[in-house]
Formats: sequence, C-alpha cells, structure tokens
Amino acid sequence: MASTDVPSSSRPLSDQVEELLSREGPLPIVAAGDPVLRRGTEPFDGQLDPGLLDRFVAALRATMHAAPGVGLAAPQVGVPLRIAVVEDPAPVPEEVRLARGRVPLPFRVLVNPSYEPVGAERAAFFEGCLSVPGWQAVVARAVRVRLTARDEHGRAVDEVLTGWPARIVQHETDHLDGTLYLDRAEPRSLSSNEAVALRWAQPTPREAATALGFDLPT
Ligand code: ZN
Repeated sequence: MASTDVPSSSRPLSDQVEELLSREGPLPIVAAGDPVLRRGTEPFDGQLDPGLLDRFVAALRATMHAAPGVGLAAPQVGVPLRIAVVEDPAPVPEEVRLARGRVPLPFRVLVNPSYEPVGAERAAFFEGCLSVPGWQAVVARAVRVRLTARDEHGRAVDEVLTGWPARIVQHETDHLDGTLYLDRAEPRSLSSNEAVALRWAQPTPREAATALGFDLPT
C-alpha cells in the first residue's frame, strides 16, 4: 500500500539507516500511532549498499532478540523499506506445538516478501506485536501460505509455509503493507498480556471465545 497524500522524506534512506546504526544497543521500536507503521514501504532495490544492508539486518536481528520477538519489520524501527527478519526457536510445550503448529523457524531475512493463502483453511490464535506492547488479540489467518521473496543475497524464495511460521510471515509482511495485526483481529478478544497469561494460556482460544464473546473460524 502506497500513500498518495503524505510526501515521503527527501532524505536518502541510507542516511537514515546510518544514523540509526550509529547508536549503541538495540534499535528503538516504533509504537502504534506513528504514521511510518501505516504508510507502506518501498520495495528494496539497492537503497542500502551490501555492507549497510548486512549491518541493518544484523541490527534488526539483535533488536528482535532483545525485545524479545519472533519477527521484526523495517517500519517498526522507522525505516520504510520492504525488509523484515523472522526467527522462532519455538520453546513451547508439546500440546501447544501440536495445537498451533508452532515449530521452529530458523532465522531468515525477507526482502520484498509477499504471500498468498494456499487452500481455504484458517486458524485463530492470540497474537501480539512489538509495536503494540502490552496487548494481544485473536487473529484468524490462513494456515498455509505461499511466500515469495528474495533473501538478503538477492536469491529468489518461493515456498509454502504452514502453521506458526506461516502466521509470522503473514504478520511481518502485513507490516510492510502498513497493516497491523489489530486490523485483522477479533476486537472482543483484545486482552492484556497479564490476562492472557492468567486466563488464556490454553493451546487454543476456544475458552476465550466463549468467555469474551467472539467467533472462531469453523
Ligand atoms: Zn508486529
């Protein structure tokens, strides 16, 4: 999604990224309400030279680890480029792994990703976002998606992902289109992290749906 009514900054993105990387430690994460999360992104086309791209990706990864999170998109650090990183060691109990399809997703860089559903199957689970700290909500998403992208070396990626890895890729790619998970969430499922930990830690959100009054995909 490209904005037509907000002029983009005339400052080169490479200067903006150099300035971000000049600080120590994890990058500051932008919170909901900042237009950079809503404007969409430029496809990556060499705006950062290979050395700067490497350093930017390393900083995204370190920031994702520090948060901690399982994905981070460039707009979440204020950079409107179509780049995201994902990585999920999936340290969850067996029953959660089975119910949610939460299997480990090795670290990878998504450059210019897009996805499309494969099949009609959908699943709904609580999901959170580093740009919406403190809250989670249930989002119904395609169980299986076809991901097309480039990796950080420019090699084409075209593969089908299932379960939690598919969910992470959808969430991060949506960021690059200016979409937050809340746009797709069941509004009545909105729960604080404390409420999720206390009440809704079950492998599926079935009890939450009954108690809070929202629908799940059939
Ligand atoms: Zn997010």
